[in-house]
Amino acid sequence: MDQRAAIPVTLPRDNPTQSYWQLEPDEIADLRSTSSLPDKADTVIIGSGITGAAVAFNLLSNGARDVVMLEARQACSGATGRNGGHTKAASYRSFLGHQKDHGTAMAAKIARMELANIRAVHAFARDHGIKCDSTPCDTVDVVYEAAQWELDQKAVKAMQDAMPDDDAAKYTLHSREDVWEKFFCGRGGDESVCGGVSYEAGSLSAYQFGVGVLKLCLAKGLNLHTNTPALNLEKLEGGGWKVETPRGVITAGKVVLATNGYTASVWKRFQGVIVPLRGHVTAQRPGLDMPKEGLPGTYSFIYEGGYDYMIPRPKGSKFEGDIVIGGALAKAPADGLEEYGTTDDTAFNEVIMKSLDECLRKYFGDNWGADNSEGRIRKSWTGIMGFSPDGFPFVGEMPGEKDLWVSTSFQGHGMVLCWMCARALVTMMGDGDEKELDAWFPEIFKINEQRLRLTFRGRLS
Ligand SMILES: Cc1cc2nc3c(=O)[nH]c(=O)nc-3n(C[C@H](O)[C@H](O)[C@H](O)COP(=O)(O)OP(=O)(O)OC[C@H]3O[C@@H](n4cnc5c(N)ncnc54)[C@H](O)[C@@H]3O)c2cc1C
Repeated sequence: MDQRAAIPVTLPRDNPTQSYWQLEPDEIADLRSTSSLPDKADTVIIGSGITGAAVAFNLLSNGARDVVMLEARQACSGATGRNGGHTKAASYRSFLGHQKDHGTAMAAKIARMELANIRAVHAFARDHGIKCDSTPCDTVDVVYEAAQWELDQKAVKAMQDAMPDDDAAKYTLHSREDVWEKFFCGRGGDESVCGGVSYEAGSLSAYQFGVGVLKLCLAKGLNLHTNTPALNLEKLEGGGWKVETPRGVITAGKVVLATNGYTASVWKRFQGVIVPLRGHVTAQRPGLDMPKEGLPGTYSFIYEGGYDYMIPRPKGSKFEGDIVIGGALAKAPADGLEEYGTTDDTAFNEVIMKSLDECLRKYFGDNWGADNSEGRIRKSWTGIMGFSPDGFPFVGEMPGEKDLWVSTSFQGHGMVLCWMCARALVTMMGDGDEKELDAWFPEIFKINEQRLRLTFRGRLS
């Protein structure tokens, strides 16, 4: 892993695989709000994914003016435009580890924030009329490993003991038979199901959500420059920052890095600290015997060493009934070691893609039926995530670097973290109530020197 973490992180690559979500790139994909770059701005945000968009929205809503956003590729073309669309926290799966390392209060705070993030994203889409197929629904984790199933039941109990009557600890356990009957898994396929856990989650097109938030920001005055990478940052003597791009230089009072897996390419202190990890996703046409009324919600399939995560496309959406499934990292040699350290989303790992291509028949067994005559696979693509040594995001002002702010490194879990982390960051930047922040934001997500010195050992849970 040391060698993978030491690979110099690059800027986002040209010509990435096209994601299902971007089959029709949005009208703002290549937008430059002004023909030339301004030479000055109060705030420059680097990155136009959900983090950059949410930071911009919060700043502009709090009255900020003169906010410029730089995006290396098309708008929202990083992880947010290429993910699995699953708003699912699975907080019980990390709860025992967080409790052991950071105490019960912190473990509970993280779980509450994750649920609050899911709810806030879907509520924002609804309240602002963002057309992104936002679908709050239940999810089920189908567990195929006996030891994991034992641990999951223990974790659910620990959470419910620690957080009685708390929505963030609401889980329902299902027997193997229940999973077969209610969730259409097992029979005729992989019948080694041990049980299942269901709880509140959701699905959406994160691309359309991100673009929708960007459009709200544009209406509030955001100056967006796509296809404009930030190449270098330099601190100015009298305060502020110089941001170099191929289209000129901007000086800014504040800079925000919303660059997730790519952060080390623009600020070297993150090399080996935020490690890129390439993720794989496919969109598949459902088998002909799958329930015509649709599946009851979203899924994850948990097996020894790893998991796959899956959403059905909701009623009324383009390609209604399609199944979007990602994961399979552990199926690659050495648990997917070669996927760490790469920013190459122009290509994919054939072992991982083959596993995703073939897994749905196994999971749904007899309920799948024959493949659609047009073929099972509609689209396959990859994207780049950012992982940190302790498994938590980095949020706050860069230690020793006044007015350089970050919200980054979301461990493949950004749809349940980025929104609230952006809100927290804007509070820290001076526009909000820090006391109120302490009530809900986990302090261990704040960036500090000690966390920057940890050694990356791989994905944590
Ligand atoms: C394949 C895949 C599947 C995933 N599935 C899920 C899922 O189902 N559920 C979930 O919760 N999470 C999932 N994630 C994780 C989630 O998508 C991310 O955590 C989240 O989108 C991060 O958002 P962000 O805005 O912080 O980063 P990004 O969306 O990656 O945005 C960063 C942006 O910064 C730009 N950029 C980088 N460097 C520069 C530079 N120097 N100059 C200018 N621009 C720059 C990039 O081009 C990019 O657009 C998945 C991720 C991947 C890759």
